[in-house]
Amino acid sequence: MEVFRDIDSLGNYLSAHRCQGRSTGLVPTMGALHQGHLSLLSNALEENDIVICSVYVNPTQFNNAEDLENYPRQEAEDLRILEQNGCHAVFVPDDEIMYVEDPVIRIGFGDMEGIMEGEFRPGHFNGVAMVVAKLLNAVNPDRAYFGQKDLQQFLLIERMVKDLGFRTKLRCIPIYREETGLAMSSRNLRLSQEEKNRAVNIYKMLSRSAKMLESGERWEEVHKEGINFLRENGLEPEYFEAVSAQTLARQTNVFDKNRVALCVAAYVGKIRLIDNLILGGSL
Ligand code: AMP
Repeated sequence: MEVFRDIDSLGNYLSAHRCQGRSTGLVPTMGALHQGHLSLLSNALEENDIVICSVYVNPTQFNNAEDLENYPRQEAEDLRILEQNGCHAVFVPDDEIMYVEDPVIRIGFGDMEGIMEGEFRPGHFNGVAMVVAKLLNAVNPDRAYFGQKDLQQFLLIERMVKDLGFRTKLRCIPIYREETGLAMSSRNLRLSQEEKNRAVNIYKMLSRSAKMLESGERWEEVHKEGINFLRENGLEPEYFEAVSAQTLARQTNVFDKNRVALCVAAYVGKIRLIDNLILGGSL
């Protein structure tokens, strides 16, 4: 496995492979790798000749300095995991490589970021879009892999790729869960066992809500019950929304033609977790 820390040497490596007619897949991550990331990697390995993972904790997408400071970092372990799982190349830039200067441009998504992560983490998607655009430019992959775990992020990136005319095809990979149902996340590393036990109620709540909606319960009632269920189980919900899994518009009639996603963010102690469930399956 090759490890690159600057854009030029990565570019030379990729050009050599492209000259041989090889296809390329990119898996962008912030490290502290888990099975969810590996599920993106294995999909990428199936569809491409050469797979590049990036490992970079992008400061511009954190709206909270403490969260950035405490984000788990384990580069040596991540490189070992990637090598063991057949990744061909890793891009591990530092801040000076990714942000030669502070960007003056801003990327906005209008109504698509007026809710959920965009509403509660101001500036978050500008940072995400900036770093994904930089990675797509540096790698210019045939395909890039993202997780349904960050559904709003995926839909916004899909939109950016369309609006800015990137040639890369995007793939959205279903959420990988622990046996308890808890969605895998690098932030789970910061949970105590007791907090993890509480966190499983996020997915329980989503599954219960889906069942209630499928049996004809009104969204307003399902929403109220969901919020109460989280609170009763020691979690502090930030939002619980039913949105179109295409446009992110709020849905009141969940049996509309559009796929509906139930999306939630909740605090377990100091740790903020997100999860979602798309009625009728994944994207
Ligand atoms: P992160 O390192 O958290 O920025 O995640 C990198 C990529 O992995 C993103 O596209 C995430 O949506 C995806 N991802 C994170 N957790 C999971 C999971 N449990 N299942 C599937 N994909 C995930």
